[in-house]
Amino acid sequence: MSDHTGIREQQQQPDRARKSRAPAKTTFPMKAGAPITLPELPYAMDALAPVISRGTMGYHYGKHHKAYVDKLNGLIEKTPYAEMPLEKIIQSAAKDASKSAVFNNAAQAWNHWFYWLSMSPDGGGKPGGRLARKIEEDFGDFDSFANELKQAAMGQFGSGWAWVVDDKGRLKVLKTANADTPIAHGMTPLLAIDVWEHAYYLDYQNRRPDFVQTFLEKLANWDFAQKNMEG
Ligand code: MN
Repeated sequence: MSDHTGIREQQQQPDRARKSRAPAKTTFPMKAGAPITLPELPYAMDALAPVISRGTMGYHYGKHHKAYVDKLNGLIEKTPYAEMPLEKIIQSAAKDASKSAVFNNAAQAWNHWFYWLSMSPDGGGKPGGRLARKIEEDFGDFDSFANELKQAAMGQFGSGWAWVVDDKGRLKVLKTANADTPIAHGMTPLLAIDVWEHAYYLDYQNRRPDFVQTFLEKLANWDFAQKNMEG
């Protein structure tokens, strides 16, 4: 039995069982007007070990991510930004060159929250369901897609991020420098890889390719990515 798209219904495999408790939307858990709080990790501090050690998580979440949140709160206190949701702060500060400190700390607060959700102790491997079909549609096959993502992550010179995004209905891979984030450019992020050295140096030293490869094999949270794709 075929529908009008020509896709046979019985070939549409059911999605993988949901293993993560990722939220359905990519809205940072903060109420407008409230101080920004450091979101809770979606798993235990040692849940991603040995791929990402408890030591890395302790510094990365407990020190780096927390510092971005704390610094941002100091910067936006008694300013119009204090009334905005985090996404709006990022988009607003992106348009004002004099607000680069607000942008950098806000974007890093958001990017890190998104990064924790982009990983799962049960992640890695290949996605199933609608995300798998969309990857085939836009990249040809999973291996081409994964290769492009690895190249983006390894090719980002210096600090930054590699992303899978939905850009007006088309999946794309991109890299951003420093704090820059797809949500400042009208794109919908599906998955993030932090390639700042602080993300991997304790565990991998300078071997960023090993970190990226292991991220894809063991941690990539494709269920989260699919939920983001579905909006
Ligand atoms: Mn980081």
